[in-house]
Amino acid sequence: MDVVERAAALRAHAEETAGCTRCALAQGRTQVVYGSGSPNADLVFVGEAPGFHEDQQGIPFVGQAGKLLDTLLAGIGLTRADVFVANVLKCRPPGNRDPLPEEIAACEPHLFRQIELMEPKLVATLGNFATKLLSGKPAGITKVHGHPQEVVLGARTVTLYPLYHPAAALYTPSMLKVLEEDFARLPALLESAIEAPAAASTPPPVEEPDPESVQLGLF
Ligand code: URA
Repeated sequence: MDVVERAAALRAHAEETAGCTRCALAQGRTQVVYGSGSPNADLVFVGEAPGFHEDQQGIPFVGQAGKLLDTLLAGIGLTRADVFVANVLKCRPPGNRDPLPEEIAACEPHLFRQIELMEPKLVATLGNFATKLLSGKPAGITKVHGHPQEVVLGARTVTLYPLYHPAAALYTPSMLKVLEEDFARLPALLESAIEAPAAASTPPPVEEPDPESVQLGLF
């Protein structure tokens, strides 16, 4: 697909998704938050789910966590227009609670189709939900953050790069430092993923228990 075709295909998919009723979240949402950025981005970020502001505005990561994401992107010379940002869930869970397994199962075809249409070189997962879904493995973010891995998404092998969720890093300075360090590796990873798709993979070290409860539900 060329640049124009891809943009049109993604727009058509967004329109289809806008009326989704695959799970109960459809009843409480203001709108489906499909994702935003460049349809032709080589780098796609996947977060957890829309929060209050995202549900209101229809754009992912517009709250405090989004401001941090913008700052981190600026630190590596990128803006939101250079990347694409989506979530595991496209509708806001009530009270920003964690996504339920049935909601993830209902919503995942939308994310997989988006990724299939965009054909990114690198997918950076933000937090546990996106990392576990797209890696297909149960290992938590504390263990795997900062370690690129190859995953097969649809017909393609893609480099997955797990990162702490910005919302968690907002409240934990040590996590913010790690997120900044992991983020700093993105340009080199992106370059090597473009040159040799899905070549980079480093095994994650053994770390302390996964503070999943700290990572999640922080918007
Ligand atoms: N906003 C989003 O769009 N996704 C998150 O995971 C957190 C905040």
